[in-house]
Amino acid sequence: MTELAIGTPTKKTVRSANVAGFASDADRWSAVVRRDPAADGVFYYSVRTTGVYCLPSCAARLARRANVRFHATRADADAAGFRACKRCRPTEQGAAIHVAVGDCALGSVLVAASDKGVSAILLGDDTDALVSEVQARFPKAALIRGGADSERWVAQVVAYVEAPRRGLDLPLDIRGTAFQRQVWRALRDIPIGSTTSYADIAARIGAPDTARGVARACAANALAIAIPCHRVVRKDGGLSGYRWGMARKRALLDREAAV
Ligand SMILES: [Zn+2]
Repeated sequence: MTELAIGTPTKKTVRSANVAGFASDADRWSAVVRRDPAADGVFYYSVRTTGVYCLPSCAARLARRANVRFHATRADADAAGFRACKRCRPTEQGAAIHVAVGDCALGSVLVAASDKGVSAILLGDDTDALVSEVQARFPKAALIRGGADSERWVAQVVAYVEAPRRGLDLPLDIRGTAFQRQVWRALRDIPIGSTTSYADIAARIGAPDTARGVARACAANALAIAIPCHRVVRKDGGLSGYRWGMARKRALLDREAAV
């Protein structure tokens, strides 16, 4: 899954960073040497002698190659003990959201990932519309094609749809209100192959009169499949709604029931 096609969205343009071009350390180093702004957010580099990490486009004096390390995310650079450079200020960038798309039996799937993990999994028929939806959800973010494991994660989602028995275990960057997060946590406890009702979820989180709120939290879920809101159905077994369409809900439940 290296060359995932991503359409040109109508509203804002995805910065089409040529991720394939920064795939090796040699490519990354040459981006640093030419201070390529297209590489900003795709990776970071740290300098052992100064203890700082920078954006590839940083105007600081070029470090010696032998002292330079590359990091996929700011979190990686922080974890390795480096401080953000005061000149290029990598922490003040609009947060980068890495976007990868794939095709599965349910149509197109888009995975958006921040430094912290997967922040959105969206399903649809039209890749451009999915990209626009991500941009609307993260209006300040710089959307970057690929990178930060997004291709690997979209491949895992596609593989899960094809064969749910493999399970899906992705690092998630879950956003939302305290109540939404409580609901979503309860959804993640619904075992594969089974379903539950909004009222059951409400009871499970200790707020039995909030079934409507539970339904709204399901509708606000940005992490299709990973937070399995498709496993919530009406008490009488009717499918109720699904943000990504009833046909997809039915198909997912059928596939999971076959596990
Ligand atoms: Zn710098």
